[in-house]
Amino acid sequence: MRVHPRAEGSLSIRFDQVSKYYGDVAALVEFSLEVDDGEFMVLLGPSGCGKTTALRILAGLEELDAGELYIGGRDVADLPSRDRDIAMVFQNYALYPHMSVYDNIAFGLRMRKIGRRDIDSAVHEATELLGIGSLLKRKPGQLSGGQRQRVALGRAIVRRPKAFLMDEPLSNLDAKLRSQTRIELIRLHRRLQTTVLYVTHDQVEAMTMGRRIAVMDRGRLQQVGSPDDIYTRPANMFVAEFIGSPSMSMFHGAVREAGQEALSVDVPAMPFVLHGAQAARVRAHGAAELAIGVRPEHIERADGYGERPAASAFSAQVDVVESLGNEVHATLLIEGRSIVARLAADNPPRSGETARFVITPEHLLLFDPATGRRIE
Ligand code: ATP
Repeated sequence: MRVHPRAEGSLSIRFDQVSKYYGDVAALVEFSLEVDDGEFMVLLGPSGCGKTTALRILAGLEELDAGELYIGGRDVADLPSRDRDIAMVFQNYALYPHMSVYDNIAFGLRMRKIGRRDIDSAVHEATELLGIGSLLKRKPGQLSGGQRQRVALGRAIVRRPKAFLMDEPLSNLDAKLRSQTRIELIRLHRRLQTTVLYVTHDQVEAMTMGRRIAVMDRGRLQQVGSPDDIYTRPANMFVAEFIGSPSMSMFHGAVREAGQEALSVDVPAMPFVLHGAQAARVRAHGAAELAIGVRPEHIERADGYGERPAASAFSAQVDVVESLGNEVHATLLIEGRSIVARLAADNPPRSGETARFVITPEHLLLFDPATGRRIE
């Protein structure tokens, strides 16, 4: 048998209404998700939302309490873990410290009684692909964190799995190495074209790596979509506030008719006025209260804004101004709360001053606070 790093058939994955309870903790609740064959899907959510549980159930390391699970269209409920053809890569790479890089990668194949020459070509092919071909004789203790992570990937690749499950594989790396390795993983996926289900709580990782992202909260799937969908069309307030850094600010207020087909929303010290299609959507929805999501880039300084209509104009005290070189993040104090504005670097406000700001109407996100859902 020739062992080649390119999967001979990667497979789709489907969770159908899967639930998992640990005592009275609901780790997964009626979780449904389809990952296409060859897709790079990211599971994103805060700590404890059930991401690892979903992976462990898929790998056959945990049993599900309800629902069905399919790999390549096959119901795998009764399929033992070792027969699922899935490779897991964890943040804790668990390499054998006394073995060389070569032996660590070859280990799984030797256990499967694969011939020496086939193992040799598989190890070389995978390590060349990962750029660690010159490190084969080293022990894990003689490697950097990034190199160890690549050895762990190599060990997974040579198994030619039908899918890779990766659980925060980059979280032990420092920031620079993390962003480098992120790019390498994207390239690797392009080469291998094997289905990947990738768990992270880091939204930058999710936004940059996933073709699609599945956002979870407290065991429940909140939304599945492209990074752009999730950012610009979040399904609900949880997704809206979880995605985006700095996070969006959410303003609550009662809705009133404001004449000329406009609606006003009573937010203390920063009343909003909604016109046209936005007002029509809120009216059609019939919400008496509204939650308005404003991303930091939708706040601008009033001077220089000109005569364009604004959704809101307000005064705020400028608290902290952080310069990022190409832009500034200003924390604004208004009615006892602080909100963040992402402003142009050429005219930054000064810390301590009171200044006028406007909110651009185009990208406001409107939510029904009773259900949390976005009003579309
Ligand atoms: P993290 O990002 O912190 O790893 P996660 O999203 O992967 O979190 P899970 O590890 O899937 O979350 O855990 C989901 C919930 O199930 C948590 O509330 C967790 O405490 C609970 N849980 C997980 N494993 C067990 C277990 N073996 N026994 C009891 N409760 C568990």
